[in-house]
Amino acid sequence: MVPLFDDNRNKIDKFSEVLQHYMLQSEQLDTTLVLAADDKSAAGLLIQRLPIKGEGNLAAKASMEDEDEIGRNEDYNRISILAASLKSEELLQLDPDTILRRLFWEEKLLRLETITPRFACSCSRERVSNMIRGLGADEVESILSERNDVEVGCDFCGQQYRFDAVDAAQIFTSIDKQVPGSSAIQ
Ligand SMILES: [Zn+2]
Repeated sequence: MVPLFDDNRNKIDKFSEVLQHYMLQSEQLDTTLVLAADDKSAAGLLIQRLPIKGEGNLAAKASMEDEDEIGRNEDYNRISILAASLKSEELLQLDPDTILRRLFWEEKLLRLETITPRFACSCSRERVSNMIRGLGADEVESILSERNDVEVGCDFCGQQYRFDAVDAAQIFTSIDKQVPGSSAIQ
């Protein structure tokens, strides 16, 4: 186990704060987030109170003594305090079942099926080509007069796409060959 540098710890804490703030402001949901990372792995525990279902929402809104306002739900606050007591080392080293047992041994737990997150991005060279086509031949020509290629980066996954003059010519000639309204136009 590599000890976390203070600087790293501060950054992680700051990041948790920002996300919690976002959940409160945007999603209007009580959220507690514990994050940890070392040079090998990153782990997180997110506690979020689910909105009341169906008519319960209306009832809560109608009630003047609104126990369900953010930060005022007793059960949530108890669970949140327990979650916040989790140490970085525990989060990084223990398996989920052990963590849940240690933190919430007095609560009724229901463990749902585990899913493995997978990173994926829907960007593709074809999509970027369509976007470049949308810019118009004049615009693309003007970019190519200043540099060797048109470079487009995906904001989500960081993939870089480059189109040189030959690629660009292909993008615009292929559209010329298509009959207007042809199903080949995506
Ligand atoms: Zn992408």
